[in-house]
Amino acid sequence: MPELPEIVNLARQMDRELKGRKIAALDIRQPKCLNMPPGHFQTLLLGKSFVQVGFKGKWVLAGLRAESPSPRQPSASQHGSEARFLLSLGMGGDALFHAPGAVLPDQYQVRMDFADGSSFTVRFWWFGYAHAATPETLGLHKMTAELGLNPLDEEEFSFDAFAGVLEGKRGGVKSFLMDQRNVAGIGNVYIQDILFLARLHPNRRLPSVTQDEKRRLYGAVREVLAESTGMGGLKYEKDLYGRNGRWDTTRVGYREGKPCPVCGTTIEKIKTGSTSSFICPSCQKPSDDA
Ligand SMILES: [Zn+2]
Repeated sequence: MPELPEIVNLARQMDRELKGRKIAALDIRQPKCLNMPPGHFQTLLLGKSFVQVGFKGKWVLAGLRAESPSPRQPSASQHGSEARFLLSLGMGGDALFHAPGAVLPDQYQVRMDFADGSSFTVRFWWFGYAHAATPETLGLHKMTAELGLNPLDEEEFSFDAFAGVLEGKRGGVKSFLMDQRNVAGIGNVYIQDILFLARLHPNRRLPSVTQDEKRRLYGAVREVLAESTGMGGLKYEKDLYGRNGRWDTTRVGYREGKPCPVCGTTIEKIKTGSTSSFICPSCQKPSDDA
């Protein structure tokens, strides 16, 4: 399933490739992935061009605008001239760009055809969301409005901000980091190496985490996510052109039975709530109260 590094790369590629492209047609094969009736979705997006594409957690967030009919009426001041397109690939999926004349895939849930003959298709492997909003209703979009800190933003994700979100929280460290309302974008792939680098057991209770451990955890979140983002994301995930990322789980993630890269102890796969965790039992000892 795509996590922050894959979504950041996808959003960057969409920003470069789709900017200025105008949506001429929309084919919606799975209306239940929308947040409104298909007719309303079409009204919001048809005829508008991509202006910029960014991200928030595991969501791609795009801004679109209708071209202004005359230079004396700047489009920004016209009612209804702007829209937002929000995409979540859920448990996994392809979001692919197709140059004019390219053969389109048979399977997709949503397809955009642009005025220049190019296309963009979205296929969810299991289930995902293709949502639309206006600048005015974006704040009411609960699934993105409640997302927490962006760990790739150095200003927003300062150590103080991270410590502030940790403050007073109970529960285990893994479930804290997986809760998108705290830090947005970490899932069950990157969490493994983050906790290993921080030398914390996934079930470690938050109130017992020391100041030094908080610093290590903060550094590990930044290091692992930045490292994978720089490598185009996980090697099992595909980008806007169908190419795989280059990041592998090089430390403990999905490596049960193999030696720990630090101490050589055999890596174990354990059950943590509804998810699996991969730990080095020597480097990531459970504390007494875990
Ligand atoms: Zn170890």
